[in-house]
Order: sequence, then C-alpha cells, then structure tokens
Amino acid sequence: MSTLSLTFLGTSAAVPTATRNLSGLFLKRGGDAFLFDCGEGTQRQMIRFGTGFGLKAVFFTHFHADHYLGIIGMLRTFAMQNVPGPLVLYGPRPAASLLPQALHLGIERLGYPVEIVELAPGQAFRGDGYRIEAFATQHRAPSLGYALIEDARPGKFDLERARALGVAAGPLFGKLQRGEALTLPDGRAVRPEDVLGPARPGRRVVVSGDTRPCEATIAAAEGADLLVHESTFGDDEAARAVETTHSTAREAARVAREAGAQRLVMTHLSNRYDADPDTLLRQAQTEHQPCEVAVDGRSFEVPLRG
Ligand SMILES: [Zn+2]
Ligand SMILES: [Zn+2]
Repeated sequence: MSTLSLTFLGTSAAVPTATRNLSGLFLKRGGDAFLFDCGEGTQRQMIRFGTGFGLKAVFFTHFHADHYLGIIGMLRTFAMQNVPGPLVLYGPRPAASLLPQALHLGIERLGYPVEIVELAPGQAFRGDGYRIEAFATQHRAPSLGYALIEDARPGKFDLERARALGVAAGPLFGKLQRGEALTLPDGRAVRPEDVLGPARPGRRVVVSGDTRPCEATIAAAEGADLLVHESTFGDDEAARAVETTHSTAREAARVAREAGAQRLVMTHLSNRYDADPDTLLRQAQTEHQPCEVAVDGRSFEVPLRG
C-alpha cells in the first residue's frame, strides 16, 4: 500500500525569516509528488531537504505573492535540468490569467511545458486510488483549501472462512479480493462479501491555505488523519487575524477539534512568533491535542488506518 508523507518547505507568513521560508508544502503519496503553494525560494528548500523535483502538479491555495512567486524560478531550473514535464498548475481564480503572465516574466523564453487549470470549489484532481479536492476558504483573495482523500480499501480477507467454504487457495482468492463472485465446481456460489470484512476507509489529509476558520474546512477535515491549518497569529493578535482574514493558533485548533481531526500541524506563522512558536502551541493545545507547530524541513508520515 502507498506511503503518504508531507514535508514542510516553508512555514513563515508574508516574509521569510532566518529559519523559516515562505509557504511551500511537499506531499508524496506512493510515486506521486505534489507541492501545495510555492513561495519564493521553494526550489532551494526542495534541494536542501532532498525531496527531488519529480512533481506531478502544484496546487496553489491563492495568489498572494508569498504563495506563488517561487514557481517563476523553479520552472526555469526544471528546464535547465531537463526535469520531465509537463507540470500541471492548479489554483483558484485568477490562475488562468495571472499564471501565464507571471511565468513569462523576464527576457528568456520559458523553456518548460506547463498546463494551467483553474479550479472551483468541489472540483478535484483524480489520482490512482485517491483524489485531491478543492474547497472554498475565507481569505481576502479568491482562495481554496485542498483535501487529499483516498478511496476506501476492500475489507480484510478471511482465509479461514474462504477455506471453510471450499475455495481452493490461489487465483480464486485474488478474484474474491478484487470483488468478483465465484461459482465452485460443485455449483455453489461464493460472493466477495462472504469472505471480506467491512471496507476500510482510506486516509485523508487537508491543507487549509490562508483562511479564517470556516465551516468548509471543518467539513473537509472531518475525521482527517492530518489537518495542516494556517496559524498566523496568537491570542494577542486575534483582532488582526479577523482584519487580515487569517486564523489564530487557537482558532486553528478549534477547527481541528470540531472536525475530529486526528492530528493538527500549524504553519504560516507571523514572523513575530518566530523566536517563540511555543506561545502558539500552548494556546492551541488548550483546544485540541495532538497539535504541533511546523518547522521547515520537518516530515510527517501518515500511517494507514486499521
Ligand atoms: Zn500567506
Ligand atoms: Zn494570503
């Protein structure tokens, strides 16, 4: 079964700091790799943390400069290093008009093939065994969050039961596991549900992007294995969070609690908390456990359920 992991490439809001780059999150599921946002300097973070350049797509949460300027230089590097393309760039409005302009900045031709797909809430990228679905968030620009949702896996195969029903071990077991019914030599029928347990839910990972706490994120993150939520401010800046359409750490943790998310990782910290991210952590922990503050270079594995 596919591994699923996330690596934070940048965890700072608006401006980089000595230890935190601008927004960028690398996600890998099996052999498929993606970026969520691509702030300035993201390509160097990918080199630093060894993620490789083999991306299938980039998903932009919105087009504030600190979330997308990195794509301009990154694609030139991909061209020079002959990274296979095309790369698909997904994002909310105005992706279709803004990205072509941005990508062709400069005097050289962009020698790298890209496809640009503007997404509306509810639309999804379809992968093998999973999808990445966009949902509406609340920010002072058109914005989307994304949920990676795996297909349910078939239930556990009950070997004893299959033997007891007279199914010979071998290819017939595989047929039942794939959901096909059998007729045995004596004429009896064996259905997959006779030997398979209940379907097992797949994993769910949600990335909020910049947003106020909102119902759509709670719905998308319902029962999520991992919620990555922005936490730009602490309690002392709660009014500023409202004014600038961001979230506080406490608000992010409330979203995680209401969604019943297994785990919360907070990112997109204002530089004023750079020296003391524990303040944000303590405020969030009073609302939801477990939660963590992301650090550039830190990876999280998402284990299979059951
Ligand atoms: Zn931002
Ligand atoms: Zn923003």
